[in-house]
Formats: sequence, C-alpha cells, structure tokens
Amino acid sequence: MESVDFLVVGCGPAGATAAREAARRGVATLVLERDSVVGCKRVCAAGLRPGFCETFDLPRSIVHCDTPRLALFDADAIEYEVAFGPGHTTTREELDSVLADLAAHEGAEVRTRALFRTLRRENGRTLVEYADRAAGVRRRVTARFVFFACGATAQLEGASFGALAMADWREGLLTTLQYRVYLDRAAAEIAYRTLELHYYLARDGRQIVAWMFPKRDHLAIGLGVMGKIDAALLRTELDSFTQRVRSRLYPNSGVRAVKTEGHLLYGGMPRPCAAEGGVLVGGTAAGFVDATNGEGIFEAAMSGRFAADAVVSARNDAQRASERYASATGRRFRRRLLHRVQIMRYLERRPRRFGQLFEQLARTPRLAEVLLKEDCERTMIDRLYLYQQALRFGARTIAGRG
Ligand SMILES: Cc1cc2nc3c(=O)[nH]c(=O)nc-3n(C[C@H](O)[C@H](O)[C@H](O)COP(=O)(O)OP(=O)(O)OC[C@H]3O[C@@H](n4cnc5c(N)ncnc54)[C@H](O)[C@@H]3O)c2cc1C
Repeated sequence: MESVDFLVVGCGPAGATAAREAARRGVATLVLERDSVVGCKRVCAAGLRPGFCETFDLPRSIVHCDTPRLALFDADAIEYEVAFGPGHTTTREELDSVLADLAAHEGAEVRTRALFRTLRRENGRTLVEYADRAAGVRRRVTARFVFFACGATAQLEGASFGALAMADWREGLLTTLQYRVYLDRAAAEIAYRTLELHYYLARDGRQIVAWMFPKRDHLAIGLGVMGKIDAALLRTELDSFTQRVRSRLYPNSGVRAVKTEGHLLYGGMPRPCAAEGGVLVGGTAAGFVDATNGEGIFEAAMSGRFAADAVVSARNDAQRASERYASATGRRFRRRLLHRVQIMRYLERRPRRFGQLFEQLARTPRLAEVLLKEDCERTMIDRLYLYQQALRFGARTIAGRG
C-alpha cells in the first residue's frame, strides 16, 4: 500500500498552500484533487485582501485589478465608500493553478482526477481510500497526517470523523450564482478600481449579499442567499441585480458573452473541532469564512500554512500536531469569524442596520482599518477603539430604532 507523511485532500488555496509549505520543508506530500485541471471549476468572485500576494509569496501577475475602493450598498441601494488597501482581484483558474504549480515545484505530488471517498484510523496512521478516475479503480494510501481542504461540500459525517463532524454544517450553507460578463468595450473606469458589495432583501424576504468584482476581461457579478433557493428565483434575482449594475457601470457597452456559474458558499460558524488524531481540517471545510462578506481565500491559505507548520514541528506525534494546528487557527481567526457570524445575524434582523454600519465605516476610515486586522494584530488601543465604535453603533441603532 502507498504510504506518505502528509496527505492533502483538495487543491484549493488551503490544500495547495499546505502542500507547498510542507514539501518545501522536506515532508513527503501527496495531494488528491478530484478535478482534472486544478481550479478550472472553482466558482468564486476571487477578491483578495491587501497584501495577499506578499503574504503568500505569489507572483503579482495573478492580479487582474487593484481595488483601492470598497463600495458598500445598503438595502435602499445607497452607496458608502470605504478606503481599502488596495485589495485585488484575480480568477481562481489562475490562483489555484499557480499555487498547485508552486507546490509541485517544492516536491509535492498533485494527483488530479482523484476523488476522496473514506478514511479510517489504523495503527496510529490514517488510511484513505480514493477513486482514481483516470484508471477507474479505487486506491488506498496511508498517511501520518491528513489535511482535509475540500471546501464547502465537506460534510465530514460518519463515525470515522469523530469530533470533527458538525451536526449543523448544512445550515451554514449559502446558494450562490454568478455571471462573468464579457463586454465589447470597457465599463466606467471606476468599476475597475472598486469591489462592490450589496446587502438587500430578495423578493421572498431573504437576505441577499451581492457583488461586482472587476477582472481584466470581464466583470464578475453574483449573489448569494442563505439556504436552498429555487434556481429560477435565484436567476431572476441575479438578472435584476445585473441590470442595476449595468445601468450604473456599463450602460453603453454591448455584452459579448455571459458565463453562468453557481456553487455553495459557507457562511456559518467555524467547525468547533478542526483537528483530531492527525486529521486536520482547513479552509472552507473548517468553516473559516467571513460571514459578513464571504472572504475565505485568505483564511484558507493561512490555515494551510498552519497545517504545514504543525506537521513539520510535530512530525512523529499526530496528536501534538493536531493540538498545535487547532491552537494556531483558534488564536489567529476563530474569534473574529465567530464575531462576524454574530454581526451578520444582528444586521439581518433589521436590514436598515446595514446602512447605519456602512455610514459609520465610511465616516471613520480608522474603523475599517482596525476591522481588517486579525485579533492577534490588534493593539490594546485598537481594542478600546473598536469597543468604543461598537458602543457608538449600538447607540445609533437604538436611537434610529434600527
Ligand atoms: C460565489 C463565491 C464567491 C466567493 N468570493 C470570494 C472572494 O471574492 N474572496 C474570497 O476570499 N473568498 C471568496 N469566496 C470563498 C472562497 O471561494 C473559499 O473560501 C475558498 O475557496 C476556500 O478555499 P479552500 O481551499 O478551503 O476550498 P476550495 O477552494 O473550495 O477548494 C477545495 C478543493 O477540493 C477539491 N475537492 C472537493 N471535494 C473533493 C474530494 N472528495 N476529493 C478530492 N478533492 C476534492 C475541489 O475540487 C477543490 O479544488 C467565494 C465563494 C463563492 C462560492
């Protein structure tokens, strides 16, 4: 039976970063990826936070647009501008394939058309079974450590996952739909400098988060709704949102082509247990997504880095590696992500609160700056400032009966 030190399931930003950083430090690493071409099927707006390429040592060539403006739109379509970064945009075809190439360059093997099926613990190692779709057979591989990074479809149900299972995983899922709109002439110049996020209610009263993210050759226009939603209704919502974007940003351009794509996004609580007995869960599979804006690429790549660190520093001790990983991800972003779920639920209860918050963010650039920081990067002064701003927001929502 094949045997490796480190087995990674899924070659998105989490899996590929873990493989790259573990292989670089001499760990024998194998990645199983179900798609035939890495990144080709990823549905994503692919907005990146400021400094992403530098943090993960990625070539600037993957960046399509630098976006110093974040435009937040409330339920009445009022726009609030927040200075930001600049953030960046890319496509997942580019980001994921570059990350996979870099992992392979460090010595990791990336095996495509390899669909994870089951795992079980055996003699202190983890035995994984996968479908080799190229050969049409099932194969088995044992590993000291397994990093699960297979995205929003990761239910991780059943006895073999033990404490990693999460009963209400499905409740955190959003349905998303996105158009890639290819224009025959460029949209308004401001479109290519801006990440737009819109928060409003769907026809059926559910909260919608919609976006327009610019790319070199197209605009990514999409939206997400919590839970399952009828496909026709979702398309109607996206059509009318796209029409609104069009009237502001490209009223005089012809549309050459539209590509439609849909997928699940996770917007619930982080998984309570992210590692056990040498099996580590990262990225979206661990629920590491910011519920307020859908950002998860940074969290995914960072969790991949933590997984590689844990495996390298506790090579012969699966439980110690698990504890290191759980503690690193916990310290770095668990608290922030929990807060973001709570903030989103608070705002959704009275949608006018979105506008009140955006107004405060637009008026106080420092608030946006401090919010973007991780907990561990915040100074005591930052924390006091945030507390004061939270009180101010609470007072304003009470005064405005928001
Ligand atoms: C519509 C949409 C828009 C988004 N926009 C943004 C954005 O602008 N910015 C941002 O930061 N985040 C965004 N996100 C979130 C972001 O896509 C995720 O947080 C990020 O992709 C998580 O990376 P990951 O590596 O954990 O998982 P994924 O990127 O989902 O990668 C998982 C990988 O595992 C593979 N896989 C799955 N199952 C198996 C299996 N059984 N066997 C083998 N391989 C498997 C998949 O093929 C895939 O390659 C968006 C998400 C959606 C749906």
